[in-house]
Amino acid sequence: MPQVDFSDTKIAFADRSDSELRRSHLLFSLMNYPLLVKAGTRLATFALRLHLPVKGLVKATIFKQFCGGESIEEARKVIRKLGKSNIKTILDYGVEGKETEADFDRTAAYLAKTLEYAREDEDIHIISTKLSGLFRFAILEKVSNGEALAEKEQEEYERGKGRVDKICKAAFESGIGVHIDAEESWIQGAVDEIAWEMSRRYNKKAPTVINAVQLYRKGRLQFIKDSLQHARENGYLCAVKLVRGAYMEKERQRAREMGYPSPIQESLEDTHRAYNEGLKFCIDNIGELYVCNATHNEQSCRYQVELMEKKGLEPGHPLVATAQLYGMSDNLSFNMADAGFNVEKYLPYGPVREVIPYLIRRTQENTSVGGQMSRELQLIRKELQRRSAES
Ligand SMILES: Cc1cc2nc3c(=O)[nH]c(=O)nc-3n(C[C@H](O)[C@H](O)[C@H](O)COP(=O)(O)OP(=O)(O)OC[C@H]3O[C@@H](n4cnc5c(N)ncnc54)[C@H](O)[C@@H]3O)c2cc1C
Repeated sequence: MPQVDFSDTKIAFADRSDSELRRSHLLFSLMNYPLLVKAGTRLATFALRLHLPVKGLVKATIFKQFCGGESIEEARKVIRKLGKSNIKTILDYGVEGKETEADFDRTAAYLAKTLEYAREDEDIHIISTKLSGLFRFAILEKVSNGEALAEKEQEEYERGKGRVDKICKAAFESGIGVHIDAEESWIQGAVDEIAWEMSRRYNKKAPTVINAVQLYRKGRLQFIKDSLQHARENGYLCAVKLVRGAYMEKERQRAREMGYPSPIQESLEDTHRAYNEGLKFCIDNIGELYVCNATHNEQSCRYQVELMEKKGLEPGHPLVATAQLYGMSDNLSFNMADAGFNVEKYLPYGPVREVIPYLIRRTQENTSVGGQMSRELQLIRKELQRRSAES
């Protein structure tokens, strides 16, 4: 098993020119200030809503750091660059929070278009989707609560499932994977039900439908075990993407406001423990199960390497992958890829205005915690210092 040196910033940033790196340095330095992030986020959202001419500024800075482009054609350059370093792209049409049937049909059409591109491009491996982009949120919530749907609602739900089925079927026929993202716990029951139904249909041999599991939620290790059991009973390949989870504050706040116990683990340590147990369970069951270790946590990548080594799996085993978001944790992605592991980068594309919610989550994630320099900023600074010492 090859050793992976996650601190090797030379490999991590080999595809970035000095000026690109300096631009990222400036951006992450600004993002490091929580007050600035708060004010900047409000200002940019407001300015875009009023159609003030800030699109160019957003596009040249934060959008460029985290997104591929406004269209697939624009994203091609990034996809090609990643491909040269043996990193596959998970392409995501990054539009969120829609509520009308016309919006859902438009998103489905974009997903179909994304799939067509993926079929022609060997560097695009997987497409990603949020079911809240294809269904009305309230319908998913009702189904998750086990509430009966009125006739019209049932028809609406079936139309949504029809959209998902069309996408999964086309993905199955083209050998492309579909990540079904995990979302708020109060709609996740419906998302899981649909993901299982699609998996039973399309995960014949390859992992076509890959369901995300958030280990920051209590009881999700058992859900992975139940998913495997369901796959065994129904004769298909279980495929999961492990994540810690991105909606912690929202989950806690809703639980507080509505007076039910928070579904989130009691501490960060509990989340890490659950994540490790989940990863171990998946790698122990590789063959019957496919796993994508979707994380920016270096320890989780180390643990993947260690578990694969113990089990005697070669780094490029087709049923194990790791994934990171574009613009983040290049030290994990590029060093793992260099050592022969299957690595994927999640790359959103879409109109600047539409990907703002995604960009806000990224800036918040990269803000200083307890006055410490963010992980990304430390890495970029280290590489800039290495380059200046070399020259
Ligand atoms: C390729 C990819 C796909 C993704 N897809 C999804 C998706 O479908 N759905 C989704 O929700 N997220 C998704 N994410 C986001 C992911 O959940 C975040 O990146 C994650 O929150 C950061 O976790 P990490 O594994 O990088 O580890 P770290 O940065 O080490 O862990 C931070 C995470 O730990 C948890 N945590 C922090 N403090 C506490 C606490 N006090 N108690 C309990 N838990 C705590 C939170 O989840 C927090 O985000 C995806 C990420 C990647 C890289």
